[in-house]
Amino acid sequence: MFQRKRALERIAREKTLYERSRGGDIHLCLVYPNVYRLGMANLGFQAVHRIFESDPRVAVDRAFLPDADEREAVRDGGEPLLSFEGGRPLSDFNILAFSVSFETDYLNVLTILTMAGIPLRRADRAGRNYPLIIAGGSAIFLNPEPIADFIDLFLVGEGEEMAPEFIARYQAAETLPHDERLADLANVQGAYLPSLFFPVYQPDGRLQTVVYSGAGKPRVNRRLIRDLNRFTTSSQILTPESVFGDMFLVEASRGCQWGCRFCAAGFMYRPIRYRSPENLLAEANRGLAERGVIGLVGAEMASVPGVAGIVAAVASAGGRLSPSSLKADCISPVLAAALARNGNHSVTVAPEAGSERMRKVINKNLSEAEIVHAAEMMIGEGVENLKFYFMIGLPEERDEDVIEIAALVGRILARTRAMHRPVGRVTVSLNPFVPKPWTPFQWDPMEEIAALKRKIVLVRSHLARLGGVELDAESPREAYFQTLVSRGDRRVGPILARLAAERRELPGEIWQGLRTISREAAAPNPSPLPDPDFFVTRRYAHDELLPWDFIDHHIDKWFLLSERKKAHFEHQTRPCDVTRCTVCGAC
Ligand code: SF4
Repeated sequence: MFQRKRALERIAREKTLYERSRGGDIHLCLVYPNVYRLGMANLGFQAVHRIFESDPRVAVDRAFLPDADEREAVRDGGEPLLSFEGGRPLSDFNILAFSVSFETDYLNVLTILTMAGIPLRRADRAGRNYPLIIAGGSAIFLNPEPIADFIDLFLVGEGEEMAPEFIARYQAAETLPHDERLADLANVQGAYLPSLFFPVYQPDGRLQTVVYSGAGKPRVNRRLIRDLNRFTTSSQILTPESVFGDMFLVEASRGCQWGCRFCAAGFMYRPIRYRSPENLLAEANRGLAERGVIGLVGAEMASVPGVAGIVAAVASAGGRLSPSSLKADCISPVLAAALARNGNHSVTVAPEAGSERMRKVINKNLSEAEIVHAAEMMIGEGVENLKFYFMIGLPEERDEDVIEIAALVGRILARTRAMHRPVGRVTVSLNPFVPKPWTPFQWDPMEEIAALKRKIVLVRSHLARLGGVELDAESPREAYFQTLVSRGDRRVGPILARLAAERRELPGEIWQGLRTISREAAAPNPSPLPDPDFFVTRRYAHDELLPWDFIDHHIDKWFLLSERKKAHFEHQTRPCDVTRCTVCGAC
């Protein structure tokens, strides 16, 4: 009853910006594996929901992880998790489709299945009347293996064309037995049927080979769309409860031209694609009818063609445009002025590393002079608060690079204070490096927790000397879990199942659970679960078969390796020129 009452209150507060249809005979529940206020702030979730809703063959509902105060009632109250709008048990649907943007939500996928009364493992559902369980989203692009034993079918890539194709095949194969229908669905480009792939491990634990029992090649060709302008990706359902409740969100681009070596978005979405300025302006104007703030979403917003004009146009219409992230050297005086006039009192700049040397290692293509100039321009134009985003624990990092984080902030503050303009809040956001699949740093380990903690203390003590700078440091323990689910293979699945069974949800609880598993793995009679350190703090060999190698991202592995070598020698690579470059294989 509790979950129903809250869902009805939430539905009453929602505003849907399109005509909803009753849909057809395929009952699909789209599941966001985290709480409602995060799911409704996720453009990927909103976009795929709209795609399924506009398909007359599909009747769509939504489901979310219950809020913390609801969870015990759902678990112990004898009532399974219900869908959001219809209030139906999730096991009633034909298809449960998980939209997973963040790999740390893999644990919540298992929690949701448990709350729905659905057996976690695919093998335990075989031959019984459960929904088809599918998953897609950006986390799945990178590495679906940690949840491969729990999901029937993955859709790897962008959903705009793949989702309708999947539905058409699902409907056409209606009369086939379950296994034959699944085999047929595997013909959708981008579909990955994990039951056809059998990993085999070496005695030292490394992946030896993957035995494939399907037709064709054991490769999954991830799916992208070429022209973003053919599809709208903006807020579709507004609610004040979303974490971006005051904003109308508009996607400006996919991918990134800069090729920072730690960043998954810069590699998995290659080649970079932008929406046209006309398209963005039209969406912004549509959004201004609903909200005063337009949130522009993408990996790097200062390079978006025509962005300064769009900021100015939104301001003239009485609104404010809030870009998700800006590369310092791409902030033109016109853009800085437009942002300040626009009422953006706070701007985030992401140097990522403090020293020139480290910025070359990570291929930031950004000099200190450019960072300082960007900060001067924004303060000069009236932006009050500055936030700087840095990483620690990066490959090739030394202590002097870490100390340079505080030194760089000090030099920026000295320059901006000399301008005699009021500088409000200055925040340094410090984030442990998490190695991501499909990046040049995919082979590198996450740094040990103790070393990261020492580096945080080092930065804190140097920032304290500057005065007036807030430090916001992300927990290395949370980064550890993120690395485990980023770089893990199928053997991480049982670890997640145990954490879910023990109801470990908060970062501290997850960390304690992982430490216990690690101790058990080292005991004289070790448990069958692997030591999580094997996936987190181990350097993967360059010639090692990686758990995600079977996905074809159209990026040559040798290119990633050559970028890793260039990082070691502090050599940078020029940003993408999609008109003539073919070097990485994506264009
Ligand atoms: S081929 Fe060149 S331009 Fe295209 S994504 Fe790769 S590096 Fe960038």
